[in-house]
Amino acid sequence: MTVIKKDDLIQSVADALQFISYYHPVDFIQAIHAAWEREENQAAKDAMAQILINSRMCAEGHRPICQDTGIVTIFVKVGMNVRWDLGDLSLDDAINEGVRRAYLNPDNVLRASILRDPAGKRQNTKDNTPAVIHYSIVPGDKVDITVAAKGGGSENKSKMAMLNPSDSIVDWVLKTVPTMGAGWCPPGMLGIGIGGTAEKAALLAKESLMDPVDIQELIARGPQNRVEELRIELYEKVNALGIGAQGLGGLTTVIDIKIKDYPTHAASLPVAMIPNCAATRHVHFELDGSGPAELEVPKLEDWPKLTFDASKSKRVNLDTVTPEEIASWQPGDTLLLSGTMYTGRDAAHKRMVDMFAKGEKLPVDLRGKFIYYVGPVDPVRDEVVGPAGPTTATRMDKFTETVLAETGLYGMIGKSERGPAGIAAIKNHKAVYLMAVGGAAYLVSKAIRKSRVVAFEDLGMEAIYEFVVEDMPVSVAVDVNGTSVHNTAPKIWQAKIGKIPVTA
Ligand code: SF4
Repeated sequence: MTVIKKDDLIQSVADALQFISYYHPVDFIQAIHAAWEREENQAAKDAMAQILINSRMCAEGHRPICQDTGIVTIFVKVGMNVRWDLGDLSLDDAINEGVRRAYLNPDNVLRASILRDPAGKRQNTKDNTPAVIHYSIVPGDKVDITVAAKGGGSENKSKMAMLNPSDSIVDWVLKTVPTMGAGWCPPGMLGIGIGGTAEKAALLAKESLMDPVDIQELIARGPQNRVEELRIELYEKVNALGIGAQGLGGLTTVIDIKIKDYPTHAASLPVAMIPNCAATRHVHFELDGSGPAELEVPKLEDWPKLTFDASKSKRVNLDTVTPEEIASWQPGDTLLLSGTMYTGRDAAHKRMVDMFAKGEKLPVDLRGKFIYYVGPVDPVRDEVVGPAGPTTATRMDKFTETVLAETGLYGMIGKSERGPAGIAAIKNHKAVYLMAVGGAAYLVSKAIRKSRVVAFEDLGMEAIYEFVVEDMPVSVAVDVNGTSVHNTAPKIWQAKIGKIPVTA
């Protein structure tokens, strides 16, 4: 009988979470690199270049790929001939101790994003515990563990449907993916669970995302069953939607489609779909009683050596920019921002709007400034700020009209598209919305030269910071007339790809 010791389990979980915070899976990097080589839309190609450059920098610097270091999700397959030596800890407790040590590691502090009392006070647990843990009991004398850290932006775009048995799964996926916008930071993967019950389909979808990227091999050898046929059909048709990297339009929206299925009731066809983002993070290992897991460190040669071509970008001085200059920017333009900007995301927006309602003055003057939707990772060593990529902008849409009207802000910087309310407010105030690449957080943080908290310090990573940036790369996503690149570009690329008719 194999005995698994407490310290081996805790250390293995902690090491795995540190490892995946800065090493993308090599198969994922290779697939993004191949997509970058194929891409014909320059804006999408630039976004993928940033994701690849960021990934290499994180592998070298051992800092997180994305500022959202995720909710920990763990699949544990326990061999029936295993005995646990965990002292007075439960298996859940031991795994969560590993999570705690990983997220509080002073050499590479990870952002704690988990809140208890989700429908109430939403208080941060401060150490990213607890993990979401799925157990199964299997034959054998080993413990097989897959550790993943899932970003909130992509998890929020998960979809589920109880289809009629005669309904088309392909039609449902193709109808649903465009409704997910770009907040899941494509290019990535779609995990699809088919069958079982509602909760089983969701679990299958999540588990399928732990498998390696292998769609090109599957296409080369040809499908051997219905699930493989579906994977290929969906891979081709989802990419034919033209959504592209970060929703900017282009040839690659998904680098793979993963599917797991399970027998289901004669009356049912449950389907769940969960996207995995540009910050795909997971690793697999086994414990056999001989000590903690040894994770194979990838070689830096596995990453392409790309450099960001700034020659086609306009340089913008945020301290002197004028409304006339802003009005000249076109959707899809790339800009390099230098100067002073402020940060603010969900909690800061809520508080600002509450203060306006009470007639109170903000502690910071935002007139003529830009606000960046970000919640950075804490800095380590000599860093000015930890990884600081953009968060999903649509969550700020409901505050945008009030904030623009009350502050005189010139614009906002965030991730992915704006919704109708956000776009209407931007047009109304002749403001602008700029997009940074989700999943390029460490790269963005290197453009931040100074950082200090100027308001709402009690909100932690959600406080308002003043950043001084130099050559921070962004794209114009909504111009002063309310034209959104996320509405126009996918239609253009869908038409160019020409496999799916474009509807208005
Ligand atoms: S890449 Fe995008 S969806 Fe993924 S964790 Fe980062 S911000 Fe969230």
